[in-house]
Amino acid sequence: MLNKEALFYTKDGETTDCFLCPHHCRIRPGNVGICGVRRNVGGTLYTENYGKLTAYNLDPVEKKPLYHFHPGKRILSVGSYGCNLKCSFCQNYAIAHGRPRFVYMLPEELADKAVSIEGNIGIAYTYNEPSIWYEYVLETARAVKEVGLSNVLVTNGFIEGQALEDLLPYIDAMNIDIKSFKESYYKDICKGKLAPVLDTAERAVPKCHVEITTLVVGGLNDDMEEIAELGSWISAISGDIPVHLSRYYPAYKMDRPPTPVEILIKAREVLQQFLNYVYIGNIPNVDNSTHCPSCGARIIERNGYISRPRLDSGTCYKCGRIINMII
Ligand code: SF4
Repeated sequence: MLNKEALFYTKDGETTDCFLCPHHCRIRPGNVGICGVRRNVGGTLYTENYGKLTAYNLDPVEKKPLYHFHPGKRILSVGSYGCNLKCSFCQNYAIAHGRPRFVYMLPEELADKAVSIEGNIGIAYTYNEPSIWYEYVLETARAVKEVGLSNVLVTNGFIEGQALEDLLPYIDAMNIDIKSFKESYYKDICKGKLAPVLDTAERAVPKCHVEITTLVVGGLNDDMEEIAELGSWISAISGDIPVHLSRYYPAYKMDRPPTPVEILIKAREVLQQFLNYVYIGNIPNVDNSTHCPSCGARIIERNGYISRPRLDSGTCYKCGRIINMII
């Protein structure tokens, strides 16, 4: 299969400049950008992972994690390989930075597969960074909308504004990682930048359902003042954005011990001063039920299993408050 010519690049002689993400790689012939999957071949930039699926699973939508988007349903989850960040703790390093085996599938084929699976709500582009196989995600997302299903991005948010804007009309929900609220953390631990990620969240919220995830790494991004700054920033967009605090476990190049559970519980309390829906991930036996922010009624019980949402036309069954949840 031939590689696909990339979008969002310019030429300077035989050198190409890629503008898909904020790295703005200048790529000489024969070389790839930081993501490792966009290659300059004789002055033309190609995306090497177009249509190459390395992972393909029907997952609970809660696993993305999305708690307020079709709760209790399943979504066909796919990934390719490559990533534009280099997080030391990467939980998916084999596909983010390796070259695993893949199967090739055209966008229309994948959309047809998705629609043939009973009860499937759509496709989640996840496992590796979806913006890094942008051309395929864009074409597939269009095909998925044509068959009447939903598209979900599980993303690090490190994408240029124009590329994001072109994709958003086809996207129903996003989970965006905000890995820390400090530029120094992005620079030192992830080899990226925070500001473009915040820009992605601000652009996405008016266009689709958004939830945010922060992986809390003990000793690195668990300062409660930083957590409070994050909560304050998110609440300025909307206090109803669901936030997931995920527990770090050692992976890839990071061997720090797992984040103590007490830190996650404390961080949740801090965020709850700003936000209405805060959840803790990667810890068994934690009550992650959704409660109405006004009257406290339990809308969904999530404690090992997921109950049906108790909503009346999008509002709390008890007090009538609007609940930010798509069912
Ligand atoms: S998408 Fe890849 S090649 Fe393009 S700017 Fe980002 S890291 Fe560089």
